[in-house]
Amino acid sequence: MLNVNHIRLPAEAIEGQLSYDSGMAALPEPSLILSFEEARHMVESHASGLHPRGKELLELLEALGYVLAEPVLADRNFPPFPRAMRDGYAVQAADLCQLPARLEVIGEIKAGAAQDDIHALTQGQAVAIMTGAPAPPAADAVVMVEHTSRTGDQVQVMKAVRTGENIVPAGSEAKRGERLLSPGLRLDYAGIAVAASAGRSRLLVYRKPQVAILATGDEIVDIDVPPAAHQIRNSNTYSLAAQVQAAGGDPVLLPIAPDEPERLRELIAEGFEADLLLLAGGVSMGKYDLVEQVLAEFQAEFFFTSVQIQPGKPIVFGRIPSDRGRPSSEAVVPDHIYFFGLPGNPVSTMVTFELFARPLLEALTGATPQNLIFLNARLKSEIKIKSGLKRFLPATLSGEFEHAEVELTQWHGSGDVVSIARANCYVVLPPDRDRIPAGEWLPVLMR
Ligand code: AMP
Ligand code: MG
Repeated sequence: MLNVNHIRLPAEAIEGQLSYDSGMAALPEPSLILSFEEARHMVESHASGLHPRGKELLELLEALGYVLAEPVLADRNFPPFPRAMRDGYAVQAADLCQLPARLEVIGEIKAGAAQDDIHALTQGQAVAIMTGAPAPPAADAVVMVEHTSRTGDQVQVMKAVRTGENIVPAGSEAKRGERLLSPGLRLDYAGIAVAASAGRSRLLVYRKPQVAILATGDEIVDIDVPPAAHQIRNSNTYSLAAQVQAAGGDPVLLPIAPDEPERLRELIAEGFEADLLLLAGGVSMGKYDLVEQVLAEFQAEFFFTSVQIQPGKPIVFGRIPSDRGRPSSEAVVPDHIYFFGLPGNPVSTMVTFELFARPLLEALTGATPQNLIFLNARLKSEIKIKSGLKRFLPATLSGEFEHAEVELTQWHGSGDVVSIARANCYVVLPPDRDRIPAGEWLPVLMR
């Protein structure tokens, strides 16, 4: 872990160009520049020490998108009876050695048939059976109706079946008492289906972490204010809030902070009331980029202040000590509150959230850590670039069936919020290539 031991005053403050005096605050080392992989591992290692903040019991459908805080156990065998997988005839496979085979149909079992209605079966006999119905005990296979022809109480079978074919044995999916879902699972529709199958109308989940979002910049105005010609509407607060929600957090939207230390300090202090603070803007090298200086006043430890990627190079990750009350059995009280200072350009804000802030937030939700997964797609048309930085550029994944193709979205740099809305992924370009020909396989991060 990188730790900052040296105290350095910002050049601007020393020169007295700013009315702001950073006092005794420790500014991060200028050398806290990491590669993409180092920065990601840095965040992941901090994330592994985090815990969610308590639990709550929710109705099944309300629990969608929350992280499970208890195991879900099978209350019965899955399936509870040997289940026919096809419409057809329950048979003894040994009766079908010679084809066509002629069997006597002794009855019918439909889905929902109770135990008493299930006909016993002996050699040379068959029972008409429907998908989802319980297979009779003596039957060891179901032959599909497509391979039979029926005349009165006789059925002619044209195709043999293996023992066990088209019957799911009782308890083969899960035995009674077995764990179906584990704590740490983010509940999606499949998890909801399993909980429903186990009769769980309520689930114990982790409370969603509160994530404060603080946009900064004198030029930024909120969306319900008519902007003057020189002003920019605040999109970052809203894109981040949407990303936080999608990742399982509860966004807390703070007012826009001006590029002025007093008010910035107040709002940062407010932000640290949450479980995680995301700042956007004010982390570049400009004279009025004050975020790091003000964070330093909160006894911040900085783990990195720049990552060799584009967009999103000036990204800051750190934490401050927390003194939030005493631990209780209900919730783990954190000893630090983490923050990210994300760059203000809207595309950079979005990309850096996904690459770095998301794993930390997911840890606070209680979710089991996931690796960042890249797909591969063929490049549709040649790319010529040179940046010396690993690039995550807005791109469009298309193509039919298994022929995935990726193409850069036309864009005007990391401020171009319009072009990213047209993209559906980020294509990853290595730092050391100036030409990538069409047809080459490239890693793609889905959005
Ligand atoms: P900064 O990171 O503060 O230097 O800002 C970089 C660029 O992003 C500038 O062009 C800002 O106007 C723009 N920007 C910063 N914050 C926001 C925001 N909340 N919404 C939209 N654009 C922003
Ligand atoms: Mg700014």
